[in-house]
Amino acid sequence: MSPSPEQKQWLLKDIIVIGWEPPSVERCDLRIRDGLIVEKGVALSEEPEEQILEGQGAWVIPGLVCGHTHLYSALSCGMPMPSEAPISFGDMLDKVWWRLDKALDRESVAVSGLVGGVSALRVGVTTVVDHHASPNAIEQSLLVLDDALADVGLRRVLCYEVTDRGGPDKAAAGLKAHEELLARTVGKDSNGMRAVMIGAHANFTLSDDTLRQCAELAKHAGVGLHIHVAEAMDDAILINENPVRRLDRLGALLPGSILAHCVHTSSEDLQRIHDAGAWVTHQPRSNMNNGVGYAPVPDFSEQTFLGTDGIGADMITELQTAWFQGQEGNVGWGPQQWLGMFHQASRFASQQLGVTLGVLEPGAVADLVWMSPPPGPPLSADNLAAAVIFRFSPHQIRHVMVGGQWKLWEQTPTSVDSLALNQRAEVVSTEIWRRMESF
Ligand SMILES: [Zn+2]
Repeated sequence: MSPSPEQKQWLLKDIIVIGWEPPSVERCDLRIRDGLIVEKGVALSEEPEEQILEGQGAWVIPGLVCGHTHLYSALSCGMPMPSEAPISFGDMLDKVWWRLDKALDRESVAVSGLVGGVSALRVGVTTVVDHHASPNAIEQSLLVLDDALADVGLRRVLCYEVTDRGGPDKAAAGLKAHEELLARTVGKDSNGMRAVMIGAHANFTLSDDTLRQCAELAKHAGVGLHIHVAEAMDDAILINENPVRRLDRLGALLPGSILAHCVHTSSEDLQRIHDAGAWVTHQPRSNMNNGVGYAPVPDFSEQTFLGTDGIGADMITELQTAWFQGQEGNVGWGPQQWLGMFHQASRFASQQLGVTLGVLEPGAVADLVWMSPPPGPPLSADNLAAAVIFRFSPHQIRHVMVGGQWKLWEQTPTSVDSLALNQRAEVVSTEIWRRMESF
């Protein structure tokens, strides 16, 4: 039985409430009203009309935020691979990712959003920050993606990756896709569920003129840019300029922006990003997958958070990978420093969405993840960071609440028919892959 979506009053009793920064572990109750946490305390009294859920020591963590992803790749697993393996990052884009995004139509954008959204929910993610591309179905693509994520029940920060690689008409269409979503958003109450950024692919596929237009639109809308920066060496080589300084020169290094990857940046570049009030995202699994090198993590400021770059949305595994890669690369960070980076995505998303995320305290929205604790030593504030790296697993997740409603119950989405979605995804994937083979 899954709980009724109409139920808006919950008392979660005898749970272990976990906080990241500062680390906290507290056995208590949480009271939830109309989407918000309204009370936290020990042995709270039950009130009429309230639904009670007994935890018996279940771990409850704040809903997770995936800070940089590409949901359009949600149906890529199993797609036809090139006959010759890619030999560089540019080759990987040409032979794999740019064939996939060109194969997407409006229906596959919707299904990718639903499939990617459900898989995010299943790993405890309640907010996704997405960077979308579908160059043969640009018009209304952000509206379609927004609808799909609303159906799943996720908070989302959306943009379209504007680029010149398809010519001026497609660059203009990419900009217009943002205006469509802004018209749905600006000045209207999105209830903290949706925000818009202006997306740009990367320096090396954008002319000065197009990048300036992206920055102008962002300034006009009062939002940041979301762009890949120095993911591989190509970014600087192909434009023959330092990519961060170029953004600055073009008026595109805006506060609240996301500069994804920043693998090939100097400490001076990173200081410039920090001083501009922009953020860096770190995607260790994607960096390894694309063979682009180690990111300069010790030089990343506190305005850095984790994303997945389209390799699912599993933030627990991404954090664990960041830790292991950091150990191998002698980064010298302790578990709490990594947990800090993990938590920063919530701070960023809170600013974007205008609600308090990432903490389970009165006043915050009720976005939370209910986990079955594995047998083992008691969890404490002192051992929490190490436990997240060595004991936590997305397999422990049972229920996920977004805005006070259970959107995942017993590992099953409550507002999307999984069986029907599976059937739709099988049909759409096969069509995408057939189109990819024709390119
Ligand atoms: Zn990316």
